[in-house]
Amino acid sequence: MGEKEMKLPTTCDGWATRVSALVKAATDALGVARFPIRIAPIAADYSRNLYPKEPITIVQGDDFGERFEGALVPKGNGEWGIFYNTGLRSKGRINFCQAHEFGHYLLHRHLSGNPFYCSRKDMWAWNSDYGRMEAEANRFASMVLMPPDDFRIQTYDFRKPTLSQFEALRERYEVSITAAVLKWLDMTRRRAMLVVSKDGFIDWARSSPALFKSGVYFPAKQLTIPLPGGSLAAIGRKAGTREIDHLAGVWNADEPVFESVLFDEYRDLALSLLIFPVDGPGRWDNSHDEESGLMDTFEAFQR
Ligand SMILES: [Zn+2]
Repeated sequence: MGEKEMKLPTTCDGWATRVSALVKAATDALGVARFPIRIAPIAADYSRNLYPKEPITIVQGDDFGERFEGALVPKGNGEWGIFYNTGLRSKGRINFCQAHEFGHYLLHRHLSGNPFYCSRKDMWAWNSDYGRMEAEANRFASMVLMPPDDFRIQTYDFRKPTLSQFEALRERYEVSITAAVLKWLDMTRRRAMLVVSKDGFIDWARSSPALFKSGVYFPAKQLTIPLPGGSLAAIGRKAGTREIDHLAGVWNADEPVFESVLFDEYRDLALSLLIFPVDGPGRWDNSHDEESGLMDTFEAFQR
């Protein structure tokens, strides 16, 4: 049965599973490596097969300056174009951005009525409270480029991973390192957090579900939270050290935290991956609600 006769998916996960299965079948048949999955030729072929009257006919770079990472734009004659910022230095960011825009094409192109212009921040949105379409495009891109079956195998021994280990994943999947870390945070049972900082202040942070449940997270509010003075992210790229075991009192008042840091993915941002002890502090057990856990985290930061 051809693609066109099959019932088309209606959800983000459905589309991702379909595209992922096709890529696997094609690479198996050709006897070539499954990874990295490069989106540009897939988006063109797949859209032409499935929607001959509205194919993706252009995948190319454009000078978006600092404004956008990528775009999905109708050409007016039914055809579509995917554009990515020529200023992006990382192949992984380009590929992830293309997959994000391909996700908009499959899922949303008739919903918006407008072209999609997507910022760097849009590429990090995993929660639909930020914007449902951006979160879905990221989930699609993440599932297609880093299929869970393979991702689990690649990360099975990630007990105290460093960002260098994620650099290996970035190469395997040709994704941004941020995308690989966010995927791991989504899947792991470890207590872990990604902190993205700029000029000494936390820009945004994401906790794994296990860490979140133990009350350690930063709320997505307009708060100005400085980096802890002793953190590698605050010390800066000159220090040379890429990872360190902090005692309690640096990132968290009560817990030692393992920090690994990376300055290379974005010109203006530092990435810190924080790994917390497997068992959280007892006082964050069920006897405390999330609100008080949150206060503890903030108090830890004020010291
Ligand atoms: Zn987008």
